[in-house]
Amino acid sequence: MEFTTIPHPAPLPSDTRTEALKNPGFGTLFSDHMVTVDYDEAKGGWHSATLGPRGPIALDPAAAVLHYAQEIFEGMKAYRQPDGGIALFRPDANARRFNASADRLAMPHVPEELFVEAIRQLLSVDGEWFPSVEGGSLYLRPFMIATEAFLGVRPAKQYKFIVIASPAGNYFKSGAPAVSLWVSDYTRAAPGGTGAAKCGGNYAASLVPTREAFERGHDQVLFLDAAEKKWIEELGGMNLFFVFDDGSVVTPPLTGTILPGITRDSLITLLREEGLTVREEPYSIDQWRADAESGKLLETMACGTAAVVTPVGKVTAEDYEFTIGSGGPGQITSKIREKLVSIQTGTVADTHGWVMRV
Ligand SMILES: *Cc1c(COP(=O)(O)O)cnc(C)c1O
Repeated sequence: MEFTTIPHPAPLPSDTRTEALKNPGFGTLFSDHMVTVDYDEAKGGWHSATLGPRGPIALDPAAAVLHYAQEIFEGMKAYRQPDGGIALFRPDANARRFNASADRLAMPHVPEELFVEAIRQLLSVDGEWFPSVEGGSLYLRPFMIATEAFLGVRPAKQYKFIVIASPAGNYFKSGAPAVSLWVSDYTRAAPGGTGAAKCGGNYAASLVPTREAFERGHDQVLFLDAAEKKWIEELGGMNLFFVFDDGSVVTPPLTGTILPGITRDSLITLLREEGLTVREEPYSIDQWRADAESGKLLETMACGTAAVVTPVGKVTAEDYEFTIGSGGPGQITSKIREKLVSIQTGTVADTHGWVMRV
């Protein structure tokens, strides 16, 4: 597909940008441009691909996304390489997951080539937006919304696919060495629901428990399964791994209520390469607590694109609390984080075909 390019009439001055990139935080600073592609069932699908200035988008007040939340998104990062080039990490996996989410939300597929090309286009003009801080990257947010003005309840016939970019420093403001979790009584996803789709609706439902966790002084919410409130599922936006003293690692299986993280999938491979036995099997909150207290459980890590690999230090519920290991980052967690980041930033060879130069 041909892209129309509209250069930004007044990009952020380079000295202002340089200053902002010294302390980008997470999700508040944005690059100059964005990509938009429109979809209209009546016009044969995707059309009008545009690389233009980032700015507000006009929507009819009856646009379906504003009423029925027909929306999906992806989260990925571009990494500056040692030779100054730019690389993406498994963008094909993001494209495939995006289309799996589209299926669940009754939305059209974005062809994989168009998904990756949109990101390439954006990076071709906003390549100067990489943070100058250690561990910095350019976070990319592709998303799709239903734009058709129609209040009846059925899948829309018009959509917009958009990609924006946000320079990212550390995800956790505190920069804490280990996060503390709040075990929520609210659930995130029920069997047959949208838990495996990356959609805004899942996040909307997680905001009350997230606020509850913050108010109690914790960093993240732990969600248990909706049916029995017994099995560990995931955090609001990260998957979990449990490391035991016998060299085995457990992560909850993808049964439809958990988001299939690309970091999760990558870690399964990397942990196995370290000689660990990784099992995808259900793990209960009671067993976790017992194993942490007996010392059988050595480490717990949370993983996702934004925060990469983060140790879990403490777990708190209404009537109990327990600490994982020493409460700080464990050996395996630190090692595997380092290994993943080295592949992403190009300081070790990519032997898996995960890194795509753009
Ligand atoms: C995006 C996301 C993850 C992590 O996925 P990655 O591909 O590793 O970034 C985990 N859980 C939820 C709910 C998510 O939305």
